[in-house]
Amino acid sequence: MTSRFSLAGKNAVVTGGSRGIGAAIALGLAEAGADVVLTYRERHDEAQAVVHRIEAMGRKTHAVPMDVTSRASIEHAAGQAQVFGPISILVNNAGINKPTDFDQISDDDWDMILDANLKGPFIVSQVFLPLMKVAGGGAITHIGSVSGQYGGPRTAHYAASKAGLISLAQVIARFGAQFGVRSNTVAAGLIASDMAAAGMANAAVQKAAETIILKRMGTTQEVADAVVFLSSDAASYVTAQTLNVNGGLYF
Ligand code: NDP
Repeated sequence: MTSRFSLAGKNAVVTGGSRGIGAAIALGLAEAGADVVLTYRERHDEAQAVVHRIEAMGRKTHAVPMDVTSRASIEHAAGQAQVFGPISILVNNAGINKPTDFDQISDDDWDMILDANLKGPFIVSQVFLPLMKVAGGGAITHIGSVSGQYGGPRTAHYAASKAGLISLAQVIARFGAQFGVRSNTVAAGLIASDMAAAGMANAAVQKAAETIILKRMGTTQEVADAVVFLSSDAASYVTAQTLNVNGGLYF
């Protein structure tokens, strides 16, 4: 009997799958049985390294360039992403941060973060939803952040983008239900990745780690595990929700 946690026979797309949390999600989905198309912005070699690791698991996989700030780029990638058949799993993971004190954030900084972290998932979801409808439904998971839940710690544009992402996920859940598409957010806490390494220069982030109930940063694997669950039939009655993977940093 196939487990309801299995993703065997499903095709997945992970944005920003070349490294960090996105790479772990691509690997996690493949480990659970899915064939995976991962997208990257510029790091082709890193994306290929993830492709090779997924191929070694016996799954089909492919890396395609996609800039989530460009609808044309997203539409082009969507055409290439259907190489293995209809897509039933989408993970909006690609995102950026630029830790900056509130009074130092420029208009350009604001637009850059909101474009990548909120408008990007909006366009990606809008482009991929019809493809998921063809697949008979599926699951969209958006990678949010504790920053979008408790206002910080420091980056107003990042926090606002991730707060907006929770709302976007809820609206997509309402709209997507008629096509059998669920939509949820995984709100990650402090996760060891390139982005967090950049942020750790900030003493406020170091202090935040001390306040985590589990007293440590999370791993990219721990975020991926939550995404695998939400992408599976085991989460068939879970939609419009935010799943916190933060070690008890916020609840
Ligand atoms: P990384 O900086 O390690 O990786 C970012 C990924 O997004 C890369 O694959 C990158 O591609 C891709 N990317 C960046 N900009 C674009 C763009 N404009 N278009 C397409 N792809 C793009 O980030 P993390 O793994 O740390 O973060 C992944 C997600 O998790 C983000 O949404 C982030 O906000 C969220 N998150 C992270 C936390 C953390 O502590 N690390 C905590 C909470 C949430 P390329 O490699 O080609 O540059």
